[in-house]
Amino acid sequence: MSDIITLATTSPLSDRLLAMNESATIAMAKKARELAAQGVDVINLSFGEPDFQTPQYIKDAAKQAIDDGYTFYTPVPGIPELRQAICDKFRRDNQLEFLPNQIVVSTGAKQALANAVLSLVNPGDEVIVFAPYWVSYEEMVKLAEGVPVTLVGTLENDYKVTAGQLEAAITERTKLIMYSSPCNPTGAVFSREELGAIAAVLARHPQVYALADEIYEYINFVGEHASLAQFAGVKDRVITVNGFSKGYAMTGWRLGYLAARQDIASACEKMQSQVTSGTCSITQRAGLAALRGGRASADEMVTAYRRRRDLVLGLVRDIPGFNTPTPSGAFYIFPEVSAYFGRTAPGGTLINNSADLAIFLLNDAHVSAVSGDAFGAPECIRFSTAAADDKLVEAFRRIKTSLGKLGKLMKNEE
Ligand code: PMP
Ligand code: GLU
Repeated sequence: MSDIITLATTSPLSDRLLAMNESATIAMAKKARELAAQGVDVINLSFGEPDFQTPQYIKDAAKQAIDDGYTFYTPVPGIPELRQAICDKFRRDNQLEFLPNQIVVSTGAKQALANAVLSLVNPGDEVIVFAPYWVSYEEMVKLAEGVPVTLVGTLENDYKVTAGQLEAAITERTKLIMYSSPCNPTGAVFSREELGAIAAVLARHPQVYALADEIYEYINFVGEHASLAQFAGVKDRVITVNGFSKGYAMTGWRLGYLAARQDIASACEKMQSQVTSGTCSITQRAGLAALRGGRASADEMVTAYRRRRDLVLGLVRDIPGFNTPTPSGAFYIFPEVSAYFGRTAPGGTLINNSADLAIFLLNDAHVSAVSGDAFGAPECIRFSTAAADDKLVEAFRRIKTSLGKLGKLMKNEE
């Protein structure tokens, strides 16, 4: 006890840092890597990252950039050709008009999100985060000393928050709403009608801004991607975030962007000028080639993601106690697994919650997943489906066997 007090009072770390959690996706992937380093055959379904190589034409553009000596700092918000290509992409894919000075290219969509949150949120401002949410949203809000307000979608509505829920949650302190569509972790996709209803709520609350994370735009199995910024009445208050990690399998290159009203884009540029000076010059040339190549390479990957989604849904529906909505996009499944809470693992460990279940599956089945509480849904667990078909088959075979080892529900035994 006294040790703990000494540690807390002598820690040099800021309150801001201490209040923030480590990224749960990254923490679980780290655990899986550690186990694999000990020689265990771990199947890593915790990290959301395409297992595909970046398409060759994109790699070639990066090699060319190096050969061209493209090794200097770039303008902070990105090279002009790339910002123009992003405007062209918005026009082609989303029927949205932006000028290059409304685009800020960053070190991944993650930095674009952080730039926007830090540029907009004052201490004490409420930020409504649609749950289940991507792990980093709430932590970014906390970093900005804002107050995250979680709004949870229901399983019956594929975990999508409704306009009615949003209307009821807005207060005079609300500054921002944040969501992803297609959603990480649920794979839910907002339809144009649903976003239209959300836009109508925002239109009634002119102090509220929206951060629309569309990084899974291309990984969509229902066909139509709708953007909140397409609703003219609110376009000026929507910050649209997108990137290359998912659609072009470019996670390691660290390239993302946002599009926003010019003053907000300038604020994000200022933030970035003091933190990273912009992303890698070579990566930006690769991103330019990616966009100029259109979305054909993404469409090929989506065919595989859809096949894997269907494969995995077949496998999980054979596992008792997993209640799994059908994802319309992204590459995750997010079953509700509370039927397993309260059961005892061999050796006597009690599975109290989804975090315990994730650890049990890692240790017993050697499959890593991420506990739902990191996504604001403690009854659920997330598995990535971005892995080879045979790995997925083997993973869910092991999971089923391990879950079969769990004892009866405690309350039945009493
Ligand atoms: N948003 C969501 C919903 C994500 O899943 C990810 C994946 N890491 C990101 C943003 C950030 O992507 P990146 O920084 O790799 O562009
Ligand atoms: N987006 C991925 C995930 O959710 C990558 C991990 C991360 O960036 O936190 O797993």
